[in-house]
Amino acid sequence: MGKVMIIGAGGVGRVVAHKCAQIPEVFEEIVLASRTVSKCEAIAADLKRPVTTEGVDADNVDELTALLKKHNPELVINVALPYQDLSIMDACLNAGVNYLDTANYEPPETAKFEYKWQWAYQDRFKEKGLMALLGSGFDPGVTNVYTAYLKKHYFDEIRELDIIDVNGGDHGQPFATNFNPEINIREVSADCRHWEKGTFVETPPMSLKQSFTCPEEVGTYNIYRMYHEELESLTKHYPTLEKAQFWMSFGDNYLKHLEVLRNVGMTRIDPVMFEGREIVPLQFLKALLPDPGSLGPLTKGKTCIGCVVKGVKDGKRVEKYVYNICSHEGAYAEVGSQAISYTTGVPAMIGAKMMMEGKWSGKGVFNMEQMDPDPFMDDLNRYGLPWKVVTPGA
Ligand code: NDP
Repeated sequence: MGKVMIIGAGGVGRVVAHKCAQIPEVFEEIVLASRTVSKCEAIAADLKRPVTTEGVDADNVDELTALLKKHNPELVINVALPYQDLSIMDACLNAGVNYLDTANYEPPETAKFEYKWQWAYQDRFKEKGLMALLGSGFDPGVTNVYTAYLKKHYFDEIRELDIIDVNGGDHGQPFATNFNPEINIREVSADCRHWEKGTFVETPPMSLKQSFTCPEEVGTYNIYRMYHEELESLTKHYPTLEKAQFWMSFGDNYLKHLEVLRNVGMTRIDPVMFEGREIVPLQFLKALLPDPGSLGPLTKGKTCIGCVVKGVKDGKRVEKYVYNICSHEGAYAEVGSQAISYTTGVPAMIGAKMMMEGKWSGKGVFNMEQMDPDPFMDDLNRYGLPWKVVTPGA
């Protein structure tokens, strides 16, 4: 059906490459490009089909534009870092290529999670007749589609949304993050924001917790309220939402390490002078921590991510919970990555498949909930992330 270029050969890039390679009738040709070409080659060596590998600095718009013109793909799947989102969108506009990512743009110097920079590309993508699909990972991504699916099939109006992300996995390391440590620590150290009565309310990071029991005996975990980017687009596209919150599980050990690291300044993202040169403490910390990719063979257990929605159907109050459970060991056996990379990479592939097949189309910049959720939900069942809808307490 066409050619795709995957940018970023990290944990998520590995999963996307494997999953795209499994569907040659949609992804006829695959180019895998990243800053370090040897990482692309290592992934390519594990695939059953040949893919083209390239080295590229995606911060350099001219260099990336030239690479896109050389290969002329239909779509770029951006699974590099959020810092590259805008330069990759610029290169796509220059070369006339559609765009998809899994995380919103962040300026390197401030941990701000806002869609405003990418929504500002709306007119430029529209004028060029191109589509940009934002946030096609699990959260954001599947959580947006889950919300759209529940709204479409179970509610006349949705009023409350709780997105609950539990990682019941254990990698046995004293301290490690399951995806890029710099991005992960910026996210969990940021002030919390949740939506209440028409506005975002700010509270200190990790200041509210509760206990959550996952279905199917995944276990009971402490979940902490934090800000996550899909709250911004979902509250915009579902203005009937009176309250929307995002919760993530963290173990006591992880939080203790994070508190100490924060107290001693190791999570700072502003440059400091060290032996006559500037370093960013969080980037230095990243260099010391285990590479998330190395956790694949070590991680045991399951993730459980889903959405609880409350609202009204035919005048009656209704509550539904939709979730997926993903096994770390199962993900590793299939593609050589733990479940955090897997649950991000599979939806990135499915979002790309929706665009390549024309099931999702449009001109401009879109969030996931603006598309028909049904074909995406079908493909989650087909390609490794099956889901269930239940009535809590029933
Ligand atoms: P990794 O750090 O493992 O991989 C990122 C890759 O991008 C690396 O291979 C890196 O290259 C490459 N890269 C970085 N900068 C550039 C550049 N300037 N030009 C070209 N390549 C570059 O991260 P993950 O795979 O864990 O995460 C990938 C993305 O997925 C991130 O944006 C993350 O926020 C997002 N994500 C989304 C989730 C969701 O559910 N929506 C969940 C988890 C992650 P090199 O190795 O040479 O440094």
